[in-house]
Amino acid sequence: MTQAPKYVYYFGPEGTEGNASMVNLLGGKGANLAEMAGHPDLRLPVPAGFTITTEVCTYFMQHGGQYPPGLKEQVEEALQKVEKAMGMKFGDPENPLLVSCRSGARRSMPGMMETVLNVGLCSKTIPGLIKKTNNPRFVYDAYRRLIMMYSDVVMEKAEGIEPPDGMGIRVQLERMMEELKHKKGYEKDTDLTAEDLQQLCEAFKAKVKEVLRKPFPDDPFEQLWGGIAAVFKSWNGKRAVAYRRIEGIPDDWGTACNVQSMVFGNMGDTSATGVAFTRNPATGENQFYGEWLPNAQGEDVVAGIRTPNPLNKATKTEQNKHLPSLEEAMPEIYQQLLDIRNRLERHYKDMQDIEFTIQEGKLYMLQCRVGKRTGTAALNIAMDMLKEGLIDEETAVLRVAPKQLDELLHPIVDPNAEKKATAIASGLPAGPGGACGQIVFTSEDAVEWTKKGKKVILVREETNPEDVEGMRAAVGILTARGGMTSHAALVARGWGKCCIVGAGKIKVDPEKKCMTVDGKTYKEGDWVTLNGTRGIVYEGQLPLIDATENPRLKEFMALVEKYRKLGVRTNADTPADAKIAREFGAEGIGLFRTEHMFYGEGSDEPLFILRKMILSRTAEERRKALDELFPFMKRDIKGTLEAMNGLPVTIRLLDPPLHEFVPQDEDKQAELAKAMGISVEDVKRRGEELHETNPMMGHRGVRLGITYPEITETQVRAIFEATAELIKEGKDPHPEIMVPVTCDVKELDLTKQIVDRVHAEVEKKFGVKISYLYGTMIEIPRACLVADKMARTAQFFSFGTNDLTQMGFGFSRDDIGGFLPDYLEKRILMADPFQTIDQEGIGQLIEMAVQKGRATRPDLKIGICGEQGGDPDSVEFCFKVGMNYVSCSPYRVPIARLAAAQASIKASRKK
Ligand code: PEP
Ligand code: MG
Repeated sequence: MTQAPKYVYYFGPEGTEGNASMVNLLGGKGANLAEMAGHPDLRLPVPAGFTITTEVCTYFMQHGGQYPPGLKEQVEEALQKVEKAMGMKFGDPENPLLVSCRSGARRSMPGMMETVLNVGLCSKTIPGLIKKTNNPRFVYDAYRRLIMMYSDVVMEKAEGIEPPDGMGIRVQLERMMEELKHKKGYEKDTDLTAEDLQQLCEAFKAKVKEVLRKPFPDDPFEQLWGGIAAVFKSWNGKRAVAYRRIEGIPDDWGTACNVQSMVFGNMGDTSATGVAFTRNPATGENQFYGEWLPNAQGEDVVAGIRTPNPLNKATKTEQNKHLPSLEEAMPEIYQQLLDIRNRLERHYKDMQDIEFTIQEGKLYMLQCRVGKRTGTAALNIAMDMLKEGLIDEETAVLRVAPKQLDELLHPIVDPNAEKKATAIASGLPAGPGGACGQIVFTSEDAVEWTKKGKKVILVREETNPEDVEGMRAAVGILTARGGMTSHAALVARGWGKCCIVGAGKIKVDPEKKCMTVDGKTYKEGDWVTLNGTRGIVYEGQLPLIDATENPRLKEFMALVEKYRKLGVRTNADTPADAKIAREFGAEGIGLFRTEHMFYGEGSDEPLFILRKMILSRTAEERRKALDELFPFMKRDIKGTLEAMNGLPVTIRLLDPPLHEFVPQDEDKQAELAKAMGISVEDVKRRGEELHETNPMMGHRGVRLGITYPEITETQVRAIFEATAELIKEGKDPHPEIMVPVTCDVKELDLTKQIVDRVHAEVEKKFGVKISYLYGTMIEIPRACLVADKMARTAQFFSFGTNDLTQMGFGFSRDDIGGFLPDYLEKRILMADPFQTIDQEGIGQLIEMAVQKGRATRPDLKIGICGEQGGDPDSVEFCFKVGMNYVSCSPYRVPIARLAAAQASIKASRKK
């Protein structure tokens, strides 16, 4: 018989089988528990346990809830090792071991999957545990928690039961507990006596049977396997699926299940539980930062039910300064924890997020993982650790996710306006920056309102991972309860979203959709402004401003420049945009869409002339209109070349969807008729003649110049004259003429004849030498297939991945909104291909074109100017296929620069 693969990995004081590198197999939690327990530099006090691999989860999912053969035996064997290490026995009436079953995927998904604690408590083991602990209150408290959690997670959720709101088993049991407290005149859960809890447990079990029509299992092994199955099933729970969609985590990774000996933070006043970060996750400050609760179990901290105590004196806040810190309450344990903190940082060389429990004065480590952090914190931690000698420059560059830069460049509440404003409440600064929006009180409303184009602040009583979609949609999140380590705070921080939690003054009434602060009521739709960096809530709309001139950021970007090899340009259509992009570090313009002069401010006159040109019937009429348009073209091009003085500017020849410019409104039609000396009817008729069934594939781009060479000629003249004038003014312009929507080299050749002729004429007229490049967009699949020929004439290629994606997929770029959500939902696509390059398909077209193009012309300059050019994954792809530069919108330039540097570092490390 062949031996079953290894499915179960033990960790504990001796003989740990896994390590931190085995994240894919053991999940983040499992791999790090093994590392903490087993690595010779660490050997931390980790309660013994074992990890069932992610492969088992995948098997379980593919085989309708069956486990692979051999698993049972491996679990039994590992459990025996755990029993030996802990000196207790699972299910033993005298000396019972209790365990937890926890999820843990490759990437952390805080609060999105399930956990069951205290597994193994039953009528057989309860008396023994009471005898052993001499603490019946603790035992019955643990038991009532087990019943609540287990019935909710294993018997209800994992069974796919979806009770109506407020009718879930957990809520029903919570209500029973509240009723008992009320009847007895108690305030806190801790007021409940052992007898109260014992009676409550009996009542709970009766309720579970009544509601779920099954008895609560009294067999420890049934509980254990129920817990394991529930963890695996929770991989496909609603929250987990929604979170994976947002974070782009593949469905087939699966979660591991960690079965670990229970240690108890709720055994009395010398017991406690806590969560900490080795550095401040909001600001990055090099300060041990965390929260703890005396006499509590782990989920009490993260569930955001009680406002937790501060970890140490240095990190007390307005909200928790009255509560004793761990440093004050248990100084020895605090020192031990501080020492562990230092060892963990030295070992992992990164900020860690840890969970710990203190059982009757003894410290245990329950988790450590790389901590989620804001963009500000990521930047500060990277630069500090570099200075401390913990990491090298390359690692520092890799430590800030390109998307996080966005947050550093994004708005904060205008400090001047803030000085004058009156705060209505304050809470914990869980996610940075500023946000201003209309308040809504449910996750669904946040999603709905956002869809309608509104900016909303999601206000909730407490933080609840089920709100993940609403949190994502909202511009900011505000909660009345919870701490910095509550799940919602973690999630918001991971996204760099402005978030304030634990604003205790706020009384939320989700049913009436309003909140009350100091007696004043705020209704759904009222405006508030949040300062997530300081944790302050303001009434009304305060202005937001850009967070510029951060010296730390400048230092970091200087490092980025040191490692970046791929060029970064910008897509800019106005001198103003060009200027901003230059400040952000753009090295030129990769796409100047000349049509811009017909939109927006100051466009009335050129648009009017363009319309005349479009509706012209004869070359003569057209030429007249073009002559009128010429000065506008030249002015725009000159301004942009000037703003980018010394740097290349890729000017694209007109690529207007003509029908969009045909006037629909009667007044405009009349005006045009008058100017052209024709009737309104004529204007209408000519407009109708321009109608195309499929304008995206119609008379656009180079085709326009093929039919009407005078259009090309006028533009090219404007480009060369603008250049000549600048040269004469002592400037250094670098124009690159780009022909759009080409599919054959002959289009390029014909256009080039015009370019050559006009070039000679302008050089002669101005008496200057004008150098320029001539190239094409590659945005039609056929152009990729014949790229070797295209490169005979083109000196550069710029991939127009908007159109290339449109024509490669056959997905209309303007209509994809109608079906993309289904494609993402059904996992046909993992991401919107118009935002991030589809490397599998469109990527092949790109690679082929790069290779073919360079085969003809080895020094062919190649870039990208589609929207994907600012997307970090696409930037990495562009680097890998050998492009010279990417081009993106001005605000994404720093992001692209960082992504480019990271791509080079990753590539050189691979080598
Ligand atoms: C493209 O197609 O990728 C492109 C940049 O051109 P446009 O979006 O103007 O069609
Ligand atoms: Mg295009």
